[in-house]
Amino acid sequence: MPNTLVLGQMLWADTTQPPQPGWGVAVADGRVLAAAPHDDLRARFPGAAVVDAGGCVITPSLVNAHHHMYGGLAHGIPIPAPPPGDNETAEGWSFLSDFWWPRVEDRLTHDLIAAATDWACLEMVRSGVTTFYDCLEAPNALPGCLDMEAQVVRRWGLRGALSFEATERAGTAIGELGLQENATFIDECQARGGLVNGMMCLHTTFTCSAAFIRRAFALADARGAITHMHLSESAYEPAYCLARFGARPVAYYEQLGVLDAPTLASQCVQVDAAEVDILARRGVHVSHQPISNCEVGGGFAPVPEMLAAGVNVALGTDGYVNNLFEVMRAAALIPRARLQDPGAMPAHIAWTMATQNGARALGFADLGTLAPGHQADLLLIAADLPTPLTVSNLADQLLLWRDPAHLRGVMCAGRWLLRDGKVLGVDEEAIRARVQQAAQTLWHS
Ligand SMILES: [Zn+2]
Repeated sequence: MPNTLVLGQMLWADTTQPPQPGWGVAVADGRVLAAAPHDDLRARFPGAAVVDAGGCVITPSLVNAHHHMYGGLAHGIPIPAPPPGDNETAEGWSFLSDFWWPRVEDRLTHDLIAAATDWACLEMVRSGVTTFYDCLEAPNALPGCLDMEAQVVRRWGLRGALSFEATERAGTAIGELGLQENATFIDECQARGGLVNGMMCLHTTFTCSAAFIRRAFALADARGAITHMHLSESAYEPAYCLARFGARPVAYYEQLGVLDAPTLASQCVQVDAAEVDILARRGVHVSHQPISNCEVGGGFAPVPEMLAAGVNVALGTDGYVNNLFEVMRAAALIPRARLQDPGAMPAHIAWTMATQNGARALGFADLGTLAPGHQADLLLIAADLPTPLTVSNLADQLLLWRDPAHLRGVMCAGRWLLRDGKVLGVDEEAIRARVQQAAQTLWHS
């Protein structure tokens, strides 16, 4: 593949560092060859094709470290109100066991999953996400549902880590099928190579026994894979663990002896200081979903505290509002209100969580910045703001005032997926019509 020079108004190659006005990148064979001033790149690569992105800022593309692609089918679905005063309890009304499991997850089929995946991939490309982690929970679509997702994701050319959320909620036998779905898929992806890989995933401590949790980690360990779990999304799981095991969830996982393995814990809303310390000490990666945390009323994750303790915190949409620009804004603004401190979460930290922290959480050493040798996953963001864009205000300007509508280019592994506001090579209306039909089927089945 010939070299391509992408020459921007500014290059923000590493969101922990200042941007570089008048810089661009040279790209070949899916990777960044060089990041340098325009003249240097033209001199060094005289025969290269040139993409003039003079009206744009070049940034690394975004990483959605926690998605449920199937969740798109349930956007807008009527949710019954819980009985008055009945917060989620083991005995009373539960969002999961009285609604989400029977009305959504248990009804998913391969066809519905494929339609939802197609739509989710379209949304990701349109919103600048080229790398994502997904958990699928669809017990009646086993086996083979991850293969179904992977076929769609590969067609899009996105970088996806896919998993099935294994749980014993419907018994150990179906739980084991979920674990095997992950193990088989991880093996297949490792043998095949490419942009799609697999991860191990278990649900929570209240749906998985100690033996099941250990087995999930053992299967992952044998494959060098990362294990993901949902952790303390609300006050329910800490209360459950304290009552059953005499320990809060993070301490319980530590007692099980599993946390030294590569681990990604999502949510981590109701974690106390001692749990944050364990997460940091054990090198557990965390994905933070500020908007979906608001949806379920779970509370505010102590993200500045986790970052200060040295925990790697990434960002995710949770399959809810799948616009990572909105998620970055929420991640930056909610801690400022919670801590009554406008400096609690600088804009560049939110960008860093959505780029290189996400890459690290998903096990990519060569992703998340546009350093030479790294994956050529980048965004062109229109720089036509109504106020001056400077080196010192760029992080805030992009965080607060830019959206997917301002994307002029999205590149994954050196390939353009979106140019000039148009997603390339797909019929968006056909994808929308198919997902509409799938949602109708799910809602009325
Ligand atoms: Zn989730």
